[in-house]
Amino acid sequence: MFVVLLGAPGSGKGTQAEFLRRHLDLPHAASGDLFRENIFQKTKLGREIEGYILRGALIPDSLTIAVLQERLCHEDARKGAILDGFPRTLEQASALDDLLKTLQKRIDVVLYIKVPDEILVERLSQRLICRECHAPFHKVYKPFQLCSYHKCHGEHLYQRVDDRPETVKVRLLTFHECTAPLIDYYSQRGLLKTVQGLGAVDEVGKAIIEAIPKARNTRV
Ligand code: AMP
Repeated sequence: MFVVLLGAPGSGKGTQAEFLRRHLDLPHAASGDLFRENIFQKTKLGREIEGYILRGALIPDSLTIAVLQERLCHEDARKGAILDGFPRTLEQASALDDLLKTLQKRIDVVLYIKVPDEILVERLSQRLICRECHAPFHKVYKPFQLCSYHKCHGEHLYQRVDDRPETVKVRLLTFHECTAPLIDYYSQRGLLKTVQGLGAVDEVGKAIIEAIPKARNTRV
């Protein structure tokens, strides 16, 4: 089963992906995490993409597609994956269709988590991420309590450089310009389910789970 999580930065994709990972027993493939890991490890790719992330701009499609192709060809993604943050452009969406076709797989559902922009800015300014497992937290609404891997006690939490208000504005503009067209793209193919992302984390999670079985058999 391949699930795509679509939504603006701060809409809760990472939080819900983590929830879905456990619920569906599927790997969580987050393009942003893969890029940040490369930056942290100072790889060649990491050096190449760092500037884009700092500016809140999208990484070029060719690099992004190559990274995700590599990720989806891992053994653990044979049974499917939860795609978080990919695709973000029509070109990436088309590349994903081609890749899944080659693997004789297809997207089961695209979940669009909808949240108003003003809420997103506030959420991101208070967000903390675990350096080790990439789980997101919120200083007020979702403070660190328990590591889902039982590995740490919150000592790896940090604030992302691109969560600063000026960069968040660029990321939101980029979302509306480059990623929002995917809402129509997937809606026209009967794959899109919209979930209101404003409620409590558990409520949004419940709505997401409810959206999955109904759409599970939807085919391109
Ligand atoms: P995220 O963790 O999903 O918020 O992504 C953080 C940053 O990584 C984005 O602002 C982009 O610079 C880059 N990025 C992540 N996913 C993609 C993608 N699918 N296409 C291009 N750039 C991406």
